[in-house]
Amino acid sequence: MHLVCGAGGFIGGHLVAELRRRGDSPIRAVDIKPLDRWYQRFDDVENVTGDLRRVEDCRDACDGATRVYNLACNMGGMGFIETNKTACMINVLINTHMLMAAQEAGVEDYLFASSACVYNIAKQQDAAVSPLGEADAYPAQPEDGYGWEKLFSERLCRHFAEDFGLRTRAVRLHNVYGPHGTWRGGREKAPAALCRKVIEAKRSGVPELEIWGDGTQTRSFMWIDDCIDGLLRLDAAPPTQPLNLGSSELVTINQLANMAESIGGIKPQRRYKLDAPRGVAGRNSDNTLLREHLGGWEPSTSLREGLEQTYRWIEAEFALQT
Ligand code: NAD
Repeated sequence: MHLVCGAGGFIGGHLVAELRRRGDSPIRAVDIKPLDRWYQRFDDVENVTGDLRRVEDCRDACDGATRVYNLACNMGGMGFIETNKTACMINVLINTHMLMAAQEAGVEDYLFASSACVYNIAKQQDAAVSPLGEADAYPAQPEDGYGWEKLFSERLCRHFAEDFGLRTRAVRLHNVYGPHGTWRGGREKAPAALCRKVIEAKRSGVPELEIWGDGTQTRSFMWIDDCIDGLLRLDAAPPTQPLNLGSSELVTINQLANMAESIGGIKPQRRYKLDAPRGVAGRNSDNTLLREHLGGWEPSTSLREGLEQTYRWIEAEFALQT
């Protein structure tokens, strides 16, 4: 049985959808949110509401499971993680109790969604950043709060493998975007936030676009289908050290905004909010080890292509909900 934790969220919802498409069943889907707030939900899946900070709920979730995909996390974009460090650190309860329960239940394979936020921030001070290779996580100086928890939980995965033979994989995801994700409310990430702001500017007739920071910070963004494809390819490959899974198409936030504006067909006045959370100056994914491990595969959907689909989805949601 496949267990997807955090299945009511963005990546978890897409993962359940893809497992179903592939005929991988049965599937148990668990999330803390009430069922009516899940981003995607499927009636032929066992949908469970549970708080995976609690070891009892982890034990119930793992009962009968052979493969675990742990995507449950209290998180969001920079606006959330920079101002909710305690909540981010408390995710350690989910990751500790899930590993304990998985090991007790005899789970065979366990995949943990780690993050590019584990990387040493001293190596991300320049917008023209060198892509981050896996070794750049050490010496440890990750993103405060969220990144420290992810790095700790990666190591816990490694020790469960060494001490108990649980086959664990930690995957360092770099910014993922696409439909059926958070696009408003304070937890959204840059691609969804910028699409929404362009749509708001169009609908309100006030042609203004707020950008966090000076817009020169660089990032790469991975299309959700590439993320799911990569996770399942890694899941089928032999376990290894933590690996990057991200796009290597580096853009500035200004370039991302340009794309959203050109999709929306408007050119609003930019307003730069210099005191807003902006994260590190530059971050990109070095996929050398990923390619070696997956026979040359890496995420390849262009940002323009994925952003167009994301924009259209947010536009439709906007029309429905306002
Ligand atoms: P998301 O917020 O959409 O999904 C996470 C889900 O976990 C939510 O539905 C939430 O309700 C659930 N959850 C939180 N606390 C829980 C608890 N105590 N018990 C059960 N469920 C709980 O986030 P996402 O974008 O789908 O991210 C999934 C994973 O990937 C997370 O671990 C995240 O840190 C990691 N990640 C995501 C990105 C990205 O760009 N989206 C980048 C790097 C890493």
